[in-house]
Amino acid sequence: MTQKMQAAVVEQFGKPLVIKELPVPEPGLGQILVKTEACGVCHTDLHAAEGDWPLKPGLPFTPGHEGIGIVTKLGSGVTAVKLGDRVGVPWLYSACGHCEYCLAAHETVCPDAQFGGYTKNGGFAEYIIADPNYVAHIPAGLSAQEAAPLICAGITSYKGIKETNAKPGNWVVISGIGGLGHLGVQYAKAMGLHLCAVDIDDKKLAHATRLGADAVVNAKHGDAVAQVVKVTNGGAHGVLITAPSLPAFKQGVGMTRKFGTCVLVGLPPGEFPTPLFDVVANCITIRGSFVGTRLDMAEALAFAVDGKVKADIELQPLSAINDIFARLKHGEVPSRVVLDFSQA
Ligand code: NAD
Ligand code: ZN
Ligand code: ZN
Repeated sequence: MTQKMQAAVVEQFGKPLVIKELPVPEPGLGQILVKTEACGVCHTDLHAAEGDWPLKPGLPFTPGHEGIGIVTKLGSGVTAVKLGDRVGVPWLYSACGHCEYCLAAHETVCPDAQFGGYTKNGGFAEYIIADPNYVAHIPAGLSAQEAAPLICAGITSYKGIKETNAKPGNWVVISGIGGLGHLGVQYAKAMGLHLCAVDIDDKKLAHATRLGADAVVNAKHGDAVAQVVKVTNGGAHGVLITAPSLPAFKQGVGMTRKFGTCVLVGLPPGEFPTPLFDVVANCITIRGSFVGTRLDMAEALAFAVDGKVKADIELQPLSAINDIFARLKHGEVPSRVVLDFSQA
């Protein structure tokens, strides 16, 4: 008899997910089967379910790219992991390994990359098929629930801060203190940076202060750019925009110091106006950053093993997914919701 599993499936963009009973998939050649213990809910899952981006996933699909679980079955030819290993199935589900980007360790932009919970079914399900060459190896000492947010929110904010090229003692702004940002604050402090947190919600900013932020600015009140420029004495050397909101992007460019770098990771649909004269005359770099490589993953996890970064999590069952999405949409999730499969 075929074994069944529960999964939360997007059948139509912009409609509630449907909890379904599906057959547990069989790992094929070079694949593994992972029994899910926990999966974080990223704002990207919401963009995916709404069909927000130009490249849309094929319907139906199962979202989730912060799935952590135990390897329970190996397809033939698998040597990179063994049965019983705890792994994470991330956004970078697989890449070709041979193109110019893969060879340069820029594998996240491989033209043949597959994306977990987007072009491949993801972790909003009791089992996940994964590519053993691209899974995250979860170090002993981290539970599945606390590791889950690190394999997208953690790696993305950590890599984004690195991409600002800010040096210890420099100022970094993080705009958006949600799932990504609350981890970004901790990475920035562990990396020896001065950190100014920007959000539109005083509760998120109070949390940033508890996590070590040196200054906070509420972008809803007054001129946020002027406040940041004042606090940082001329603008931040590095700015990381995680906010899923277009006005935050133009503001972020304005908060960047001369010769500084503004890194964009938030992905609200649309475009933002670029103040061309300021960018040119102040020699500002604007760059995108897309999750991180497997090496970035190992580094991002190591901070947590050292106790320097800890995700703030709220556990919920898979059946609550539509309520969680509604809260995420309205900015009502404090940091990160993690679907907990361990009690099922
Ligand atoms: P989240 O909903 O947990 O957090 C977003 C935060 O932004 C909230 O605290 C909210 O209050 C704040 N915010 C909203 N409007 C703002 C504004 N105008 N100014 C400042 N702050 C504002 O979302 P998340 O899971 O952290 O994801 C954030 C974004 O990053 C999403 O668009 C997601 O798709 C994207 N993302 C990108 C990558 C990547 O590789 N580039 C990876 C993961 C997520
Ligand atoms: Zn994500
Ligand atoms: Zn490639």
